Amino acid sequence: MQIAKVSFVLLVLSRTGLCPPPPIDVVLDLDGVILLESHQGASSRPEDFVEADGRRYRVAEGAREMVTALAADPRFRLSFFSAQSSKRNVAVLRALQGQGSTRSFFDLAQGRVFSRDHLDRDGRKSLASVLPRSDPGRRVLVDDNLESVARGEERGCLWAWTGDNHTRLARVMGALDAIGEAGQGGTPVPDAIDALMWTGERGERRVRVEMASDGALLDRGLRQMRLARADYAPPKQPNEERAQGDLLAGMPVASKIRLAELRRNGQGWGGDCGVTFTELAGATP
Ligand SMILES: [Mg+2]
Repeated sequence: MQIAKVSFVLLVLSRTGLCPPPPIDVVLDLDGVILLESHQGASSRPEDFVEADGRRYRVAEGAREMVTALAADPRFRLSFFSAQSSKRNVAVLRALQGQGSTRSFFDLAQGRVFSRDHLDRDGRKSLASVLPRSDPGRRVLVDDNLESVARGEERGCLWAWTGDNHTRLARVMGALDAIGEAGQGGTPVPDAIDALMWTGERGERRVRVEMASDGALLDRGLRQMRLARADYAPPKQPNEERAQGDLLAGMPVASKIRLAELRRNGQGWGGDCGVTFTELAGATP
């Protein structure tokens, strides 16, 4: 009886907006999202690199700011998921310090780290499996490779490929902020991702080119990152990094994703960038 009363009060509070919805599980991939190959990016600042488990990694631009801001945001609950070994993943996450903090990424995620042993039988990442009590409408996998996502969970993946190395995470942060805001109003994460990332009909879904070029999305992400570091700004891009091919450079070309069409428009890739991900389209209800 008592439990029923409490449940009723919580229901009323949630309907009236006085009780915020439970946090959205944000699960971050490591390689290609938080970590880049050590030669990627022009930085020579020691703080842009991390050594762990015998390897040296380039820390992606804005990773410390993004992770620190996400960990402090009550709308989100942070975890990491990488297909590498648990030993490697924990070593890297313990070595990475949050922005302006003595807390490591491992601590910021309160030790929620999923690794190779947590992959499903297809070798993919299933949030339903690693977070069994989570609501499918309130979890998001941020990954640079759509092939990493468990079958049936594709719509819950925010594809972290867009833009150049310098601004990619700011765009991801902007998208997560939009997903978090939509989630406050009850919009399920997959619907928010659909609106942000995808265009076209079922069977011919395309990535919205705005994900890579939308200044408002970038600004939105930068505002969130500045909660962790007030003066954060992505570094000026060297000309060669600003090359139009960057849009392609961030894409997991080794995967089955088919680049159906790419049109040049003036100084940049314009119009519909034409990335057709047929497998995802087939899986989208
Ligand atoms: Mg990856």
